[in-house]
Amino acid sequence: MIKHFLNFVQSFSGEMLVHTLVVSGMVINSSLTKAEPSLSVVYPPSEHETTAEKIFFIGAASPSGEVLINGEKINRSPQGYFAPSFPLAIGENSFTLRHQEEELEITVTRIDTTPQIPEGANFAENSLTPKVNIARLLGELICFSAVAAPDARVNVRLGRERINLFPETSVVALPPNSAVLTSENQPKTITSTSKYQGCKSFTVTGNLGKPEFEVSLKGKRETQEGMGEIEILSPNDLEVIEVIADAGVARTGASTNYSRLTPLPKGTRATVTGKQGEWLRLDYGGWIKESETQVITDSIPPKSLIRSITSRQLSDSTEIIFPLQVPVPIAIHQGDDTITLTLHNTTAQTDTIKLNNDRVIKRLDWEQVTPTKIAYTFHLKTQQQWGYDVRYKGTSLILSLRHPPKLSIRKNQPLQGIKILLDPGHGGNESGAKGGSGYPEKAINLLISQLLKQKLTDLGATVYLTRETDIDVSLQDRVEAIQELKPHMALSIHYNALPDSGDAEKTQGISTFWYHPQAHNLAVFLHNYLTAKLDRPSYGVFWNNLALTRPNYAPTVLLELGFMINPWEIEWITDSREQEKLSNAITQAIIAWFNVSSMKM
Ligand SMILES: [Zn+2]
Repeated sequence: MIKHFLNFVQSFSGEMLVHTLVVSGMVINSSLTKAEPSLSVVYPPSEHETTAEKIFFIGAASPSGEVLINGEKINRSPQGYFAPSFPLAIGENSFTLRHQEEELEITVTRIDTTPQIPEGANFAENSLTPKVNIARLLGELICFSAVAAPDARVNVRLGRERINLFPETSVVALPPNSAVLTSENQPKTITSTSKYQGCKSFTVTGNLGKPEFEVSLKGKRETQEGMGEIEILSPNDLEVIEVIADAGVARTGASTNYSRLTPLPKGTRATVTGKQGEWLRLDYGGWIKESETQVITDSIPPKSLIRSITSRQLSDSTEIIFPLQVPVPIAIHQGDDTITLTLHNTTAQTDTIKLNNDRVIKRLDWEQVTPTKIAYTFHLKTQQQWGYDVRYKGTSLILSLRHPPKLSIRKNQPLQGIKILLDPGHGGNESGAKGGSGYPEKAINLLISQLLKQKLTDLGATVYLTRETDIDVSLQDRVEAIQELKPHMALSIHYNALPDSGDAEKTQGISTFWYHPQAHNLAVFLHNYLTAKLDRPSYGVFWNNLALTRPNYAPTVLLELGFMINPWEIEWITDSREQEKLSNAITQAIIAWFNVSSMKM
């Protein structure tokens, strides 16, 4: 499971968990058929709260007899697993699960998400926006909103301005990204939201303080101070910052809900054109957290010229050096056989580029796209790209493109010289998803990774594991391992689960996840190879922004090999013969992919 949709609470004895952890895999089944079969429900926990319209019950009981939920017989797999869904009413929902003499009570509370509309001359709690301090350039629109009773009159006073807010008759709301997993991602039109909104541009600079919101209804009037101060920035006096994080996280907006842009290398400088809470908007359009930057005093807005460009070949990569006057914001985009570097705040005076016959680069084209933006497009000799890195050394930008691995010609050692990193997901305190008996994803992730390590090593590969035992490893440490070890391929091994509203009984299959185009071919190849060779259902190939798909140093793919919560798939997942087949198939897929991608050279 990639994210923790399921916040599990242990609902069976700790002893059983230790048991299944130690032996892993198969043994769960025998524990189910022993003399003391216990009805176990691993999800939801006994006092679960959710906003979903339905809930599934993930559990197991010995195969004999029936399992009833609120008197209704439920479907079970041959070994006794179950995952039925039940609708939820708003508020408390009681469920009684019965198997032979055993009975379990579970209460699930469905939280009402419909916005509460206040009565009379009042604002809905916490509804005034902006919610944080914001700064915008002179002349930019600044918008205010509040939720109040229908038919109210709402306005905002700020400085010498008075801004009328108008009711929004309908809003089109977008579900969260995770809704794609349950095919519930369609926009929803919400009418009569009682949200009032108005925007205004300001003509004076400086801190205008907090806006005062006023609502009036039927002769009554109420005022409330806004939460954030509004500052208007003078274009003559803007701050300049430098990125102090190794790879500053740039985003399309001022919160982690906004998409990531190309990370900004340490040392990048840019002018601040806006602020929102802890976020800074930089001159080229990206937003970054203030804590990843420091203010550079006595600095004029950073801009650079660029003249000649050079390159040099190292043993396993080519470095292209862009001498600049100041480290500027960058963006990188990969195509099928291109990689494009964009330099912002840069103007060309380029007449010469030194680029010898190179192992990976066929040609470099460049274009001044706007007066302050240059795009460098590298046309590559190979379709498969093997990873890149970008950093500032002083004011020079260094882009390094990795060379393809040299494939072994020894028949019994086809992976000799190939370095592969395997990342068994979760571990330690973090269990990941759980099968109906409580068997944790972290255990199967490690087991499959160890099987793979053995098989790949036997074929000549050098294999690294991000963990060899049941320990906590942070996402950061896993990503750094890829950066430091520079494998030719990195695979993160996971098994899946669903959000509460998902259909756990009917959802099965293998899925692969990629982020950079250099990993797309690998993700598709592994998905198609495994579903065909093992005759397993497909859950799909996803572009997905994940910590373990984002590394750019090597083609990196995250695999979700099946659904822990599916009653039938968990039997396949925990079957040791099937685990052997699966790890053989992944091994063969890796060999085949290296052969296919190297042919494209
Ligand atoms: Zn996982």
